[in-house]
Amino acid sequence: MATVLSWGRYPRAPQEAHVVAWRDAVSPVWCDALAGNFTTLPFGNGRSYGDSCLAASGQVIQTLALDRLIAVDWETGVLRAEPGVTLEQILDVAIPRGWMLPVTPGTKYATLGGAIANDVHGKNHHVRGTFGRHVRRFMLVRSDGTRMECAPDQHADFFSATIGGLGLTGLIVWAEIQLMPVQSSMIDVRSIRFANLDEFFTLSEELDPLHEYSVAWVDCQSRGSALGRGILMVGDHAPDGGLEVAASKKRSVPFTLPVPIFNRATLRVGNELYYRRQKETEVRTRTGYDAYFYPLDSVLHWNRIYGRAGFQQYQCVVPAAVSRDAIRAILDAIAKSGGGSFLAVLKRCGAIRSPGLMSFPLEGASLALDFPQRDALNARLFAQLDTIVREAGGRIYPAKDAHMSGADFRGAYPQWQELEALRDPALLSRFWERTTRI
Ligand SMILES: Cc1cc2nc3c(=O)[nH]c(=O)nc-3n(C[C@H](O)[C@H](O)[C@H](O)COP(=O)(O)OP(=O)(O)OC[C@H]3O[C@@H](n4cnc5c(N)ncnc54)[C@H](O)[C@@H]3O)c2cc1C
Repeated sequence: MATVLSWGRYPRAPQEAHVVAWRDAVSPVWCDALAGNFTTLPFGNGRSYGDSCLAASGQVIQTLALDRLIAVDWETGVLRAEPGVTLEQILDVAIPRGWMLPVTPGTKYATLGGAIANDVHGKNHHVRGTFGRHVRRFMLVRSDGTRMECAPDQHADFFSATIGGLGLTGLIVWAEIQLMPVQSSMIDVRSIRFANLDEFFTLSEELDPLHEYSVAWVDCQSRGSALGRGILMVGDHAPDGGLEVAASKKRSVPFTLPVPIFNRATLRVGNELYYRRQKETEVRTRTGYDAYFYPLDSVLHWNRIYGRAGFQQYQCVVPAAVSRDAIRAILDAIAKSGGGSFLAVLKRCGAIRSPGLMSFPLEGASLALDFPQRDALNARLFAQLDTIVREAGGRIYPAKDAHMSGADFRGAYPQWQELEALRDPALLSRFWERTTRI
């Protein structure tokens, strides 16, 4: 039996994958996964970074072989598919017909089931909200064999709890989503350099309402008056330029490096070079959707560069009223620690509410960055960052998390008890065990 890990490869808890390939064969696979255990967990493509996709028992039900499109109406853009279909598979058929995912995370290798269970968000959160807002209905199978079709007006409690429900309410065996019409697969991008965090907020407040997409890269090593400098990339689907599916030629990191390539010096130089590579204040380009949305996907297995110990991503969101001060304090603490990565992603989230009970985004600013796993440094720094986030009234994204305390989780997501009440008793993740039982 194959074993799988989460994307950050931390905690290193290999999972035995019980493969389900047919919608009507869920129950036998479920029984198999439960043999000798009390619990299991659905598993998509393991693009969650921490332990929310890892079963407490180490036995997961993997859905990647449930990869069929069931029905698509190309007049209306309504698509019904099995949960193991990846976002890439959807784009491959949708783009040539003038349809796009209404919301996409920064990887096209997430599955439909995973995108719903984490209620993922993208660069257009300020105009389209989360993925869950575009889910029309799905079929949920519970461990007792019950099948429940869920929609906003049908088993509404399970509909809401399953969107962002971390795979705990049952196994989705198909889902129906509404695609978004586009004129072209090209994105018109404006890349604008900003000298510090205040400039970012001013620019983003001015430009976000004018553009479909908006995201910034931030130099997490800059300090003083340059703290939070970076490049804001706003974009829109081009009005012309063809409907081309991205070519799939990829590079790959062939093996896990013994140690991470990042240290204080390489981080500083790397961030500096990235910031300096754009000489003009503003550059306008037209680029394919693949390069704009999924730059990291162009190198397969890039997570191996973090070495055998793996890495953690820290992603938080803080409310709008305090976001300037809180993000400043977070970046300051990171710069002083000398940790962090080349890819600190900063974005303002909008006010559109998700139908999901446990959805992560809230109106404010979200910051995400990767840290090579170094036990002492991460524990010290994350404790500092957690205090800033807690005091700001913000929260951490479970899909990326491997460290949040139970108290912080329960304080930031008081709805967790409603999810617990609807949780399938035979489903339990390491994340849920860690944050709700300690
Ligand atoms: C490079 C990169 C960029 C990313 N960018 C973003 C981003 O911009 N925004 C964002 O929100 N996230 C982002 N992510 C995180 C990623 O999109 C989510 O973690 C996503 O949910 C992963 O999907 P997956 O199919 O790999 O699911 P997994 O990671 O395998 O599982 C995720 C959750 O889904 C549940 N699940 C899976 N299948 C089913 C099913 N059939 N029924 C019920 N539950 C199920 C699992 O139990 C688990 O709780 C990024 C990840 C990477 C690696």
